[in-house]
Amino acid sequence: MHDQPSLAGKEAGLYLRKSRAEEGMDTAEILAKHQKTLLEFARKNNIHIVETYQEVVSGESLYARPQMLRLLQDVEEGLYDCVLCMDLDRLSRGRMKDQGIILDSFRDSGTLIVTPEKTYDLSDELDDEIAEMKTFISRREYKIINKRLRRGLQQSIEDGCYVANAPYGYKNVYVDRRPTLEICEPEAKFVRMMFDLYAQGLGCVSVARQVNAMGARPHRSSEFSRNSIAKILRNPTYIGKVVWNQKKHIKKGVKGNLKHITIYQPREKWTITDGLHPAIVDKELFDKVQSIMDGRYAPPKHDGTVRSPLAGLVKCANCGQNMQRMVMKRQPYLLCMKAGCCASTQFSFVEDRVLDYLQDTLTKLSLPRPEMPSGRDNDIQQTKLDTIKKELAAADRQKSRLYELLELGEYDIPIFRERMAAVREKISQLETQQAEIARQIEDSKIENPSALASRIRAVLDAYETADAAGRNSLLKSVISSVWYTKAKKTKPRDFALDIHLRSL
Ligand SMILES: [Zn+2]
Repeated sequence: MHDQPSLAGKEAGLYLRKSRAEEGMDTAEILAKHQKTLLEFARKNNIHIVETYQEVVSGESLYARPQMLRLLQDVEEGLYDCVLCMDLDRLSRGRMKDQGIILDSFRDSGTLIVTPEKTYDLSDELDDEIAEMKTFISRREYKIINKRLRRGLQQSIEDGCYVANAPYGYKNVYVDRRPTLEICEPEAKFVRMMFDLYAQGLGCVSVARQVNAMGARPHRSSEFSRNSIAKILRNPTYIGKVVWNQKKHIKKGVKGNLKHITIYQPREKWTITDGLHPAIVDKELFDKVQSIMDGRYAPPKHDGTVRSPLAGLVKCANCGQNMQRMVMKRQPYLLCMKAGCCASTQFSFVEDRVLDYLQDTLTKLSLPRPEMPSGRDNDIQQTKLDTIKKELAAADRQKSRLYELLELGEYDIPIFRERMAAVREKISQLETQQAEIARQIEDSKIENPSALASRIRAVLDAYETADAAGRNSLLKSVISSVWYTKAKKTKPRDFALDIHLRSL
């Protein structure tokens, strides 16, 4: 046996249902008893329970909607650190190697299964085995149930309703009490524009620039990037299809980092079916865009040589070593090679952030320049930094307070989630401000703005069509170093870059 991981401070979903041995007993009574046991356990281990999933249906339809499916979806979305239940058998009746989607969801999202007896971390091979053995007996039963569950999911996919967040250009609606998508015209017109512009020969960076300038705003960030445009152009949802298996979730790279990462699977692994929702672009235009993109897309080479556009540029701010590009689960990541040093990030996120920085710098350089800040201005900036630091500490305390309020019953789950999201949003805003001010201080040191602007413009224009090595030398022509930081257990994009431009 190995050490039990500490559970203190983890966010959990609580799953309750009767076991087969308890069939025929009073459901409400049994579940209340289990709930009490689990709540006591949670309190003792300082686990925060956010939501309870109580399965009141018994017998054959146990795995059918809604509680198990709802839990499964939330687990896949990475909402929890762990799920608490009486024993493993309540959660799932074994894992058929190729089809077990319940335990797979837990393993892929890095969500722990916590029972009073033991904590299962399915991303740990050993636990995976135990989980399988423990449920071996009921495999045959599981097989039957799993088939039914899969059919249920498949039906949802075909109905176009297994969609947690509406893609840009659509909104979620309910038709006959089932969720599906409806065109959101103010956004859809930009989607058509993106496809049109790209088909006319513009690159993703230029398309992003164009639609941003026209006022298009993505759902979860302030403006479109090269990457988000590419994702839209690749998304078959826009021709009325439904994509399944597009995202995978992984946790804890081998380096002992990361709470949770969403990774996008290669297209060969997607399952695409006809949806019920309307198309935004026609298939002809979509196919044209795909063929242009296929021509431009350079698949990663697996010949052992590291071919990273950021090679030699990004250093870990924690230990000072060069960050390396590494393919994990088919997706490139940027990571510090020192074990357990700092959390890694999906490579394209870092690359995009660097390009965004160049784009922003270019924009700023084109603006009339403020006067050189005096020592006094630098003092003001420093004071601002101190204030932000204090506000960050306050936000942290607020987070703890939210857990208390949830526990005291002052907040229900939707309100808790809303407030928690607000606090997290605030923290991320403060961190952005912090980086921005640090950057302003840095920017004020630039000596020859127009020469720098033209070099940056040249880099951005050539970037998209260059190969990895070419991109690397383009970046190195304007950037001298990039310092990377990311705390463990933070969201995929919660990393910070301190970028230093080359002096001319
Ligand atoms: Zn490091």
